[in-house]
This record gives sequence, C-alpha cells and structure tokens, in this order.
Amino acid sequence: MLSLKEAVLDGTKIEANANRYTFVWGKTVKGNRERIKEQLKQLWAYVEKLYEDEEQTPNEPDFEAMDPEAVERAIEEINEALKDKETDPKTRQKLRYAKKNWPKKLAEYEEKEKLLNGRNSYSKTDPDATFMRMKEDHLGNGQLKPAYNVQASTEGHYILNYTLAQTPADTSALKDHIESYLKKYGGAPESLTADAGYGSEENYEYLGERGITGFVKYNWFHKDVTDKKRREDPFLSDNLRYDEETDTLYCPAGKPMDYIGDKERTSAGGYLQRSRLYKAVNCRGCPMRGPCHKAEGDRVVERNFNLIKHRRRARELLESEEGIEKRKKRMTVEAVFGNIKQNKGFRRFNLRGIEKVTTEMGLIAIAHNLQRFSKARFA
Ligand code: SF4
Repeated sequence: MLSLKEAVLDGTKIEANANRYTFVWGKTVKGNRERIKEQLKQLWAYVEKLYEDEEQTPNEPDFEAMDPEAVERAIEEINEALKDKETDPKTRQKLRYAKKNWPKKLAEYEEKEKLLNGRNSYSKTDPDATFMRMKEDHLGNGQLKPAYNVQASTEGHYILNYTLAQTPADTSALKDHIESYLKKYGGAPESLTADAGYGSEENYEYLGERGITGFVKYNWFHKDVTDKKRREDPFLSDNLRYDEETDTLYCPAGKPMDYIGDKERTSAGGYLQRSRLYKAVNCRGCPMRGPCHKAEGDRVVERNFNLIKHRRRARELLESEEGIEKRKKRMTVEAVFGNIKQNKGFRRFNLRGIEKVTTEMGLIAIAHNLQRFSKARFA
C-alpha cells in the first residue's frame, strides 16, 4: 500500500507523564555554578589583600575547572594561605560553609548537567522529558509542560516512521529521524516534504548528501511568494545586487561594498555555517540613509551564499507543479496527529523515560496504521 518513495515530516508535542511543577532549568544550574565561582574569586581577592605588602604571595588556585575536586582544592589553598593570618571571622565561617557544601553542590550540578545533556530543562519526575511550550487551549494559549517532541513521517495517512526528540525545535530533529528511517527501511525516501521549521542550511545540506529531494520550506518562503513589496524592496539585504565574478556586493545606492571577513556559527548538531560580511564604504550624508539602515556607522551586510543557494532551490521545487502537489500532501501528517490527539484523545504518555515512551508511541503508531488499513480494506 506504500511506495516508501515520498515522505511528509512534521512534529507534535505530547505531554510526558511527569509532574508539571518540579523542573530543573539549565540556566539556573549554570547560574549557581557561576555564583560559587564568583564567591571563590572574592575569597581569593581577600587573600591577595592580606598579602599585599609581602614579597611572596601564594599561587592563585584554578577557578576554571569548577568540578568538585578542583573547588575542594581551591578552598584548601585559600585556607592554607590564611593559616597564619589574622582573618575576619565572617570569612572563616564562609570558608567552613564552602568546604562542607560547595563540592557537594558542584557534584549535584554536574549530575544535573549530565541529565540536561544540552537541553534547557528537564522534569524531576521524568528526566528524559523537556519543558516545551505547547499549544493547548482553544484560545491558543501556550503552556509550558514536560513533553516529548514526536516526529513522524507519513505517506498517505500511514505513519512510516516516528522518533522522539527531546528538544522543542523541529530543526534539529530531522537528521535523527531520517537516520532512523534509513535503518528501518534500508534506504531513504526519494523526497521529503516539511514545513519551515525544518528549513535550515544544515538540513538542506544533509538531505542533499542523502540524495533526498527536499520540498522543505524556509522561514520567509510565504513572504517571498506573496509579498511583492518585500520582493522588490531595494533595501532588503537579500535583494542587494551581487556580482559573482568579482565577488562584489552593491549597496542600495549602487556603490560597491567592501568584503570585511567571514562570520562562523556552529549549530547544536555541530554544523558550521559560514557567512561573508560586506561593509558600505561611506554612509555618512547618504540621502538613502533613513530607509536603508539604523546602524551608527556604515551598513554591514551578512551573506550566507550556501543558504541562499539552498533557499533558491527549495523555492523552485516548492513552486513547481510537483511541489504544489507535495504541499497539499503536507496536511496528511497533521491529520495523523489530529487522529491520535483529538479523535483518540491521546495527549499524554502513560510511561516514563524515553525508552518506554518510544515503545508506547510505537503502539500508538501501530494502532493508527491498523485502523487506517482496516478502513481502506474493508470500508
Ligand atoms: S546608506 Fe550606506 S549602504 Fe545605504 S545606500 Fe547609502 S551608502 Fe549605501
């Protein structure tokens, strides 16, 4: 019943079986660790003050490592340095407190960071679940709940593959999903259709490497197609004229801009994005300055040529006859989620931990596919 040639991918968040009010935030853990570091530095500043007039000052402890052993060592070194000095009783008390508590606390933070594994949060009752904003009530008000981001690829209302992502963004979930698809079927689909949530340079590159034609939108796709004003806006950096032969970008006044270097960014998945930076030669006194830019000095424009190339290709594909058909099919994956969540009322997992939740989602997918099959066969 399935060709396995074309897949439509989308994600939906399903609440975890976890307490909504007991969470650990990555930012808080990082902040607590930084606070201990700051306090250690303050204690060291106190030591340095006491040694101000002496020729030999003790060596500064290592404040960078910030693991339990390093902090224990740093406290010992501070204590050693203060051994024969008349010390303020409050500092002594603080050092006693630090010795007793900080290494323990740092071990706790290390444990939490291991569980976070780069995520911004986790639930204490299901540490594999991450807090995600979910579209919940009929007014569209989002709520932060512990959840899993279920990724499903479908063909004709059947679920071909599903994976569970532990981060709310769909962008970073595509690669794992396709890799799992490859393992399951021993080959990739010929095409993949997905919405703008997946349209990153990293994903376009990856699909190309896997030989999959990506009918994948990017952020401004709809605006590019429908917004004539935007398309023709002479000040928009995407619309500036570029001469490939001479590698020259021209500002809206038609003046060549200077290439001033590259800008690099690494994604969470380790993909290196590279942009080229161009600077206008002299914006002062330019009559176009008002609508052109708000920066203080000369205008700087960032161009990622690889991403531009991918977006152009994606647009061509999406606007082709085949692309228009594929976009219509994108709704099928939403219908699948609708069936599971609205019709079947499955909005929260019953089990905890990603392994068990993966099995539970598998049962849901099998049930959905069997129902679909029986409808097609016996209707
Ligand atoms: S303000 Fe600067 S970048 Fe803009 S058109 Fe004038 S010279 Fe060119």
